[in-house]
Amino acid sequence: MKEQIRRAHNFNAGPSALPLAVLQKAQEELVDFRANGMSVMELSHRSAAFEEVHNTAIAKMRSLLSIPEEYEVLFLQGGASLQFGMIPMNFLQPDSTAAYIMTGAWSEKALEDAKLYGKPYEAASTKGENYRRIPSFDELRYQPTDAYVHLTSNNTIFGTQWSSFPDTGDVPLIGDMSSDIMSKPVDVSKFAMIYAGAQKNLGPSGVTVVIIRKDMIERANKNLPAMLRYSTHSKNNSLYNTPPTFGIYMLGEVLSWIEETGGLEQIAKRNEEKAGLIYDAIDASQGFYVGHAEPNSRSLMNVTFRVKDETLEKQFLAEAKKEGFIGVNGHRSVGGCRASIYNAVPYESCLAFREFMLQFQKVNG
Ligand SMILES: *Cc1c(COP(=O)(O)O)cnc(C)c1O
Repeated sequence: MKEQIRRAHNFNAGPSALPLAVLQKAQEELVDFRANGMSVMELSHRSAAFEEVHNTAIAKMRSLLSIPEEYEVLFLQGGASLQFGMIPMNFLQPDSTAAYIMTGAWSEKALEDAKLYGKPYEAASTKGENYRRIPSFDELRYQPTDAYVHLTSNNTIFGTQWSSFPDTGDVPLIGDMSSDIMSKPVDVSKFAMIYAGAQKNLGPSGVTVVIIRKDMIERANKNLPAMLRYSTHSKNNSLYNTPPTFGIYMLGEVLSWIEETGGLEQIAKRNEEKAGLIYDAIDASQGFYVGHAEPNSRSLMNVTFRVKDETLEKQFLAEAKKEGFIGVNGHRSVGGCRASIYNAVPYESCLAFREFMLQFQKVNG
């Protein structure tokens, strides 16, 4: 009989949990990938065997997110953080403006890079409220002449998430969806571009997915090094240079797992149930646990909260660690507690954490 596999309750913020079934399939295929006599890492990125892996991953991205014809799917490197710079490099001139909606640390980093290339400004910000909420559509100030509007769909550090997206009309909307892509259906046509580092919901770190409307690629600046132009990657089906082949293989396998789980509707339902378990424990605690995000801005991916006094909070974190809950410490810039419960974190882990929270309060409340 097979030994029981020990899997941690992995609440890491990123890199984060991957589906066990995907890891096991990768293990099975590792040394002899589909009768090639070598691992997927050892295949030429120009081989038919790898191209199949690559194109299947692109096709699965397209079908799961219902990506319209006029968009391209690119696999890049450099993480979401390189996109903070590539976006203004490609779409700004020294005098052009771009509107950044500020909802946390990632938006701040994106804005800082844009300042090097044009005149970005804040279209709205909830920084004064310690980023407890997503601004309402009424608060957004952007101009028809802006090169684009930029938003961060989920804020890992503060635990907030957009539940619906503004319609920016003719102004291209660009979304950093690194930490909630594929967690629910999204109307891609509202966006001119979506980007995401893979390591939260899509696979291992090393791949960055870019979904970009073709007219954006055409209008982008030409005076950039090849690797920094979207057009280079688009013309070469993201095979201009050696791509992160193993990461793309894993991404494809994670997308297959999402399909087998029932697609994005089903994943969204599961994510709501998982987050509900923990938010309910916070809401029913009568102030013992204090959520950071305002209820209508709550993230289904990162649940952020504090324990009512600091000594108890230290004890809570220490006991959580002892009980095998990994990664529950809040981000170093905010403190407190955070459970990151991306797609691949099992319902059972969320349930076990809820039970732990209830028990801790019963003993210490
Ligand atoms: C994790 C994260 C990033 C950083 O991604 P890297 O791939 O490490 O550069 C950027 N934006 C958001 C919204 C994230 O969640």
